[in-house]
Amino acid sequence: MQKKEVQSLEMWDKEYVWHPFTQMKTYRREKPLIIERGEGSYLYDVEGNKYLDGYSSLWVNVHGHNHPELNEALIQQAGKIAHSTLLGAANVPSILLAKKLVEITPKGLTKVFYSDSGSTSVEIALKMAYQYWQLKDPIRYAGKKNKFISLREAYHGDTIGSVSVGGMETFHHIFKPLLFERLEAPAPYTYRLTENNDAEACKMLCLKALDTMLREHHEEIAGLIIEPLVQGAAGMITAPDGFLRGVRELCTRYNVLMIADEVAVGFGRTGTLFACEQENVEPDFLCVAKGLTAGYLPLAATLVREEIYEAFLGEPEELRTFFHGHTYTGNQLACAVALKNIELIEREKLIDSLVAKIECLAQNLEKFHTLPHVGDVRQRGMMVGIELVQDKDSKKTFPMHMQVEHNVILHARQNGAIIRPLGPVIVLMPILSMSLEELEQLTDITYEAIKTVTAQAYASCR
Ligand SMILES: *Cc1c(COP(=O)(O)O)cnc(C)c1O
Repeated sequence: MQKKEVQSLEMWDKEYVWHPFTQMKTYRREKPLIIERGEGSYLYDVEGNKYLDGYSSLWVNVHGHNHPELNEALIQQAGKIAHSTLLGAANVPSILLAKKLVEITPKGLTKVFYSDSGSTSVEIALKMAYQYWQLKDPIRYAGKKNKFISLREAYHGDTIGSVSVGGMETFHHIFKPLLFERLEAPAPYTYRLTENNDAEACKMLCLKALDTMLREHHEEIAGLIIEPLVQGAAGMITAPDGFLRGVRELCTRYNVLMIADEVAVGFGRTGTLFACEQENVEPDFLCVAKGLTAGYLPLAATLVREEIYEAFLGEPEELRTFFHGHTYTGNQLACAVALKNIELIEREKLIDSLVAKIECLAQNLEKFHTLPHVGDVRQRGMMVGIELVQDKDSKKTFPMHMQVEHNVILHARQNGAIIRPLGPVIVLMPILSMSLEELEQLTDITYEAIKTVTAQAYASCR
């Protein structure tokens, strides 16, 4: 692109665009990163600079950018029709995709409700769970089963309903007066607070607390929502083995619906197609979005068990209908690409290929432990969180105004990789199709960035 064109775009970006989760005051002080195209594991900006996509374009990309087969699926579908409504009517790719989703997701999930984002998929699960109890027994559950449990540090999206079940102070605090009531269960990350980092002891502690909470409150609780295996936005906090299984058992025992929010962890991210598989968990609701279209188009799905679907059946005048639907629900272009995404995952045996990649990541991450300003290094499958600290003993983080994490990201960008932090945690979310060489390159660039920037920051703190 011509230098002049680039300058105009940079100016117009600052002039007209309000970026999400971005402090625009500081954003506008810097040269914006404007992506023009992508190819495989790489992103290219308007000046032609090439970067490894170390965040899978915010956790969505599966097979790489500009993938010929995904492009072709999109073109083929566009040549037929781009969109027609799912309200009282059907379309071809949404039918085929629903059938496929039921086949590949954990047992027991039989119906698919489409929407457009992770937040809406959660919103739908919450509303369905509440309405389910009211339909099932309006007298018994009158004024009951109207609250939800979620975990400390939970993140389930940004709409008001999904924020209501959120547990992240920074993001959610300001909206408190607008939210419905939630009960907060302790999250396994507290194992870092127990002696010896004993994950097993912490798991038992958390499950015991949840057991007590459910015993006392299950009459009020419609459902429990959880990010299986990894709390993503909280900073890639990995749960101890067996925790998810334990939560499932408690939900069953106390007659509370379990909502598995696999928006981040679904589609291979943790090493299995869905995270629930690793602990043989069959949730009552499954929310998927991010990886569903391999990073091509906004599409989400909420899958439910047959029993839940059936509770909504009745004559129109009974008003048992689920009165919810987004205009672009079941969009053909998005569904066609999602179908091709799943076909590619299966045909290329993507899940099998992850074993070596996860191991490679783990090996490359070992050297981070030796860095003086790295605390916890967490990995689950192809999700990584590297915590930056001033010193290892106190685990104190750098003061926010120093923008240490942001400077790490800028350093990595200079060296050809795009990554993003979550608070004091540097996140690596490589594209699942990345080669071992690319994974190594990504961790090397990140290592250099953390090493250099934290050393400088520490020196200037003294
Ligand atoms: C990203 C995310 C969401 C929200 O998805 P959007 O598409 O951004 O609305 C919900 N839950 C989890 C676990 C997520 O990581």
